[in-house]
Amino acid sequence: MKLSTKALQVKASSTLSITATAKKMKADGIDVVAFTAGEPDFDTPAHIKEAAIEAINSGFTRYTDSSGTLELRQAICDKLKNDNGLHYEPSQIVVSNGAKHSLTNAFIAILDPEDEVLIPAPYWLSYPEMVHIAGGVAVGVPSGAEKGYKVTPEDLEKYLTNKTKAFIINSPNNPTGVVYSREELQALADFAVKHDLYVISDEIYEKLVYSSVEHVSIASFNEEIYKRTIVINGFSKGYAMTGWRLGYAAAPKEIAAAMGNVQSHMTSNACSITQKAGYAALTGCQQSVEDMRVDFEKRRDYIFERASKIPHIKVMKPEGAFYLFIDLSALYGKAVNGVEIKSAADAASILVKDYNVVVIPCADFGSPDNIRLSYAISHENIKKGMDRIEKFINDNF
Ligand code: PMP
Ligand code: GLU
Repeated sequence: MKLSTKALQVKASSTLSITATAKKMKADGIDVVAFTAGEPDFDTPAHIKEAAIEAINSGFTRYTDSSGTLELRQAICDKLKNDNGLHYEPSQIVVSNGAKHSLTNAFIAILDPEDEVLIPAPYWLSYPEMVHIAGGVAVGVPSGAEKGYKVTPEDLEKYLTNKTKAFIINSPNNPTGVVYSREELQALADFAVKHDLYVISDEIYEKLVYSSVEHVSIASFNEEIYKRTIVINGFSKGYAMTGWRLGYAAAPKEIAAAMGNVQSHMTSNACSITQKAGYAALTGCQQSVEDMRVDFEKRRDYIFERASKIPHIKVMKPEGAFYLFIDLSALYGKAVNGVEIKSAADAASILVKDYNVVVIPCADFGSPDNIRLSYAISHENIKKGMDRIEKFINDNF
């Protein structure tokens, strides 16, 4: 008896498993600070919850169109037009069980075996695994702190082969918090058109941009880039709806149809009740989204200021999402209780064991020198956690 080669190659999500470890520590009564999963700590806004209750009470509990209800797909088209200047029809929208599901549908729809997908590093750890699941080959393209953790067409070009089928752009970015400017995206769009590549544009953090930074969708520049882009978005981050499982893709007709066909056999529609909630989220008052964004911005300012004062650690001010990306390579070669630090993961282990702070080591994000702190936790916990990280540094270095 043997598992498939494909299954054996897929690793479990370490963000989810480390988050589970932190939850267990809490359940065991440990006073832990968990800078772990990227999950808003806010409750889903009341009017969204009420729409779901109403859906249950009115019996909206049956299968819907596999790609989503027409009303929700139309509301998504309206949102894409108003927020992003993108014109889609409902037949170009596939509503799924979260952006994770939409991304997997997209890779299955566009990849043949051995097709390569360029993934700018640092990247969200699920991308390479999704590409493997779809039978493709994930190719990490390094960026690095000196380049502001962004890639340019020249960087991508170095990894281009005759098998390259697509590249991913994730702005605002998980895990760095980087947001690509209009000009940077325009250059990447021209590159995609020139080399006839698909673009998977993961815009799930679009509502979470700070100061005067603007979110731009790469699909919005011209007809050529629109024709080759699959826009991915969802409700988890902007509307604090992680548990509801609702996301969507917008794409040219043939791609959307292929994704819809795949989904029609794998899962059918996203939960009917959740779709009603999603409709209320998009068509209702957006003040709660703005209130959450403003609160995240305050946390961003605080955590960045604290981190930038701690010696030996390097940080860059995040412009979006809710992650602080910390370079710990200055600790390499130093020892704590006789154990030498050789990677950010070694430092993360000490933080858990001796300081009750759980962070995400970023080797699986294509960046072994870094840890990621999700600041989607209370201000009080951010302060407590930063006090502990500061103590870890002061105690040992
Ligand atoms: N894309 C990125 C960059 C993410 O960080 C996440 C994390 N949840 C997702 C997609 C998936 O979101 P969901 O499936 O909850 O919609
Ligand atoms: N995307 C979030 C994160 O990066 C949620 C966990 C996950 O799905 O990986 O923390």
